[in-house]
Amino acid sequence: MKSSRRESNTRFRLVLTLGVAVVLPALTLIFVNFQHVKSIQRDKKVEALIHRDFQYLLSNSAKKINQKAYDLTEQARAGFPSDADSDDEKRRKLNLIVEKSPWFAHVFFYDSSKGIVIQPRSGRMTEKEVADDSRMYTGWFSLEGPYLCEQMRKKSKPVIWSGAESDKPDGPVYATTAIFSFPHSEPGKVVLGGASFDPQYLKQTFFPQLLGELTSQSFNGDPGQPSAQTLTPEVSEHPDQRLAMMIYPSDALKAEFNRPLVTSPGWGNGEPEISYNLDDPFRGLALGIKFQGTTAEAIGRKWVMQSFLILAVLSVLMIGGLVLTYRSVNKQMALARLKSDFVSNVSHELRTPLALIRLYAETLELGRITKDEKKNEYYSIIRKESERLTALINNILDFSRIEAGAKEYDFRETDIAELVHNTLDSYRFQIEQQGFALEEQIDPSIPRVKVDREAIARALVNLVNNALKYSDSEKFLGVKLYRDNAVLKLEVSDRGIGIDRNEQTRIFEKFYRTCDPLVHNTKGSGLGLSLVRHITRAHGGEVIVESTPGRGSKFTLSLPLVQPGAAGGL
Ligand code: ADP
Repeated sequence: MKSSRRESNTRFRLVLTLGVAVVLPALTLIFVNFQHVKSIQRDKKVEALIHRDFQYLLSNSAKKINQKAYDLTEQARAGFPSDADSDDEKRRKLNLIVEKSPWFAHVFFYDSSKGIVIQPRSGRMTEKEVADDSRMYTGWFSLEGPYLCEQMRKKSKPVIWSGAESDKPDGPVYATTAIFSFPHSEPGKVVLGGASFDPQYLKQTFFPQLLGELTSQSFNGDPGQPSAQTLTPEVSEHPDQRLAMMIYPSDALKAEFNRPLVTSPGWGNGEPEISYNLDDPFRGLALGIKFQGTTAEAIGRKWVMQSFLILAVLSVLMIGGLVLTYRSVNKQMALARLKSDFVSNVSHELRTPLALIRLYAETLELGRITKDEKKNEYYSIIRKESERLTALINNILDFSRIEAGAKEYDFRETDIAELVHNTLDSYRFQIEQQGFALEEQIDPSIPRVKVDREAIARALVNLVNNALKYSDSEKFLGVKLYRDNAVLKLEVSDRGIGIDRNEQTRIFEKFYRTCDPLVHNTKGSGLGLSLVRHITRAHGGEVIVESTPGRGSKFTLSLPLVQPGAAGGL
């Protein structure tokens, strides 16, 4: 009664500890994580983070594109003639520039005192176009030249851009012209140079090349680009997610995304996720970016899905772990209970035979017993009780050796039929005295086999003892030894109380005893069958039980005739 209260107290404490120390924090963790992932989904945080990175990439890309145009212009400007050069010299120098720079459609040099010299790329402009442009530039510069020079002086780069987009049957084109001043020109005079980018070159070579470079270098540590660390983990975790960019007229209506100026490889169709309006030299154009074949939204969704999945798996693992912990602690508690039962059982089992031995020895010592028959009976009781003690102590010693991993078996060639017969013989008197009918069937033709004699005898004694202990009305003991092909079988059967199906595997566990009232009233340590199983397995065999409650049990040891453990086999 007391012990069951103590046990339920311990269980309550255990459940409380598990609950407070493990289950509660684990559930809170799971809950918080689920909430977190859910909030990310709601706020579209992943998508926003990707867009932030896109914005960063675009502003850097725009800088690169602009820088390239400035560099090309600067390079051309360095080779420009001066206002002191003759017209022919000017033309020669300008021609040199256009020949070296396929990206220019034409270059020109304007001097307010001498007029304009235009040098087109060969075949790029008709004479009429040259004449029109000359007129247009001269008109513009004679009016606004001084103002333009003034503007340029204020700028860090003395360049002014004039760009415009126009629609052609095969899509939009963009032309831009750089107009620049020279540092050493005479004061008061308007001296300007100009280089006009070829719209076809921009469309077919300049932009495609740059977009190609920008989209392929965006994520691999280009110093001009954000490194993987500065990108959101969601983006940098998808290095396989390639980028695509396009350039389109910034005033385009949505429908006109279908008519971009230039697209990088892998653009496909559709709108950019993020756009960035370009400044000089390409004012009027916009740069758009997206992922190839997917969207930031889809990546965000996938990320959230994956996070949920990981969380779900973690939760299942955590709950599984908790259940396992709970079960294993329960098992340990049951084992602890069995151990304490074992101690009290064993003490009881030791005390009873010792008390009997002492009682009968004292009686004999007093010399009051005169009848030889009575004396012999007392002597036999003393012998049997000491035998019981020996068997119990042997079991306990064997068990502790097994637990310590120090149990060794001594396999020797043995006539097992004789071994079984002799073991039974030493118990025959006891068996018959308890009113048991013994049926012994031993096949005499069984060959000699290598076994540990003592161990096999102990296994048999344990099984016989159990049959005697756990039989009530019908007292029958059957022992059978026979050969079944390559297996040697030793059967011990009774018609006793039997064993419930649920308990048939558990009875081989150490300390385990069934709940039957008869078992409770019978002394025992719960070690016998665990020893039987250990001994059988050491011989390469197995022990099984067939039993029906109320009808009896049959234990069968199967020992292979050729076994790996014992050299030479059985
Ligand atoms: P012990 O007999 O000392 O309790 P064992 O390990 O030999 O320990 O047996 C374990 C339990 O198996 C026994 O307590 C009993 O409940 C059950 N058992 C063993 N043999 C028999 C049998 N022949 N008939 C019924 N129950 C048995």
